[in-house]
Amino acid sequence: MNKIIDGKLVSSIIKENLKKEISSLDEKLTLVVIQVGNNEASNIYVNKKINLCNEIGINSIYKKYDDIDEEILIKEIEKFNNDSSINGILVQLPLPDSFNTKKVINSISYKKDVDGLTSINLGKLYNNEESIIPCTAKGIMKLLDYYNVLLEGKKVSIVGRSNLVGIPLFKLLLDRNCTVTMCHSKTKDLKSSLKESDIIISATGKKGLITRVMVKEGTVVIDVGISRIENKIYGDVCFDEVEERASLITKVPGGVGPMTVICLMENTLDCYKIQKNMKNL
Ligand code: NDP
Repeated sequence: MNKIIDGKLVSSIIKENLKKEISSLDEKLTLVVIQVGNNEASNIYVNKKINLCNEIGINSIYKKYDDIDEEILIKEIEKFNNDSSINGILVQLPLPDSFNTKKVINSISYKKDVDGLTSINLGKLYNNEESIIPCTAKGIMKLLDYYNVLLEGKKVSIVGRSNLVGIPLFKLLLDRNCTVTMCHSKTKDLKSSLKESDIIISATGKKGLITRVMVKEGTVVIDVGISRIENKIYGDVCFDEVEERASLITKVPGGVGPMTVICLMENTLDCYKIQKNMKNL
């Protein structure tokens, strides 16, 4: 039986549907991608996002600053907020250490917040209101649904509690009636929590953190982590040994990654619809 959860396959199906919908619109959508500094991983992610925009028929404007004053960056973002030809604004993270990331992110209009990371969108999500959902968490939910993973009543452990992945995922899974345990670097006995879980989702960036002994037979394992070591990419999960026990498992790369980028495109379309009053927020 094929156990692999194929993010490339699922994202390509979503991509074809998005292409059709976007080409049927009267206007062309535009996404602004802002990068500060020259983080190597960020360069790769930004490229992927811009390439997918091109493939799908979304205009992209790439603003890369070697360095910029925080207040000037915020003024730039405000200009894009007020420009009706711009539908989505993304600030590639991480920003250099000198920046107040929360302040910069919160300067993005919540109606153009394609990453769903402004306090308004996160607050709406936690308060059961319509919101733009962070791309990776949204992508993981789509993968679980595509593979018909039953969620109601299941025990889920999430490893990693960032606003980007773990925390929004916690809420989305809770809303689907899972019993969710949130693990992090201070969790005392990671193995005991994981060993009881029907679904494990790991987002730490710690290569090989999740081993065979932590996983019971039949678990669904989603690996979000990315560690780049000597130009190779590794996940959090020791794939070869955990695969034996898993009923379904993602690979790194080719699992969650493609879902994150395609959900960014979907969120850009959603932002457009919100701006045109075709969708409520
Ligand atoms: P953060 O650094 O913000 O968060 C990492 C989390 O992992 C923290 O909550 C931290 O705990 C926890 N953690 C670290 N070490 C351990 C450990 N030994 N045991 C248990 N928990 C631990 O990272 P992000 O959430 O931004 O990203 C996580 C990973 O996912 C990265 O590798 C990133 O590259 C990848 N990623 C992949 C995406 C994709 O599309 N595939 C998209 C987004 C991220 P604590 O809070 O206590 O510090």
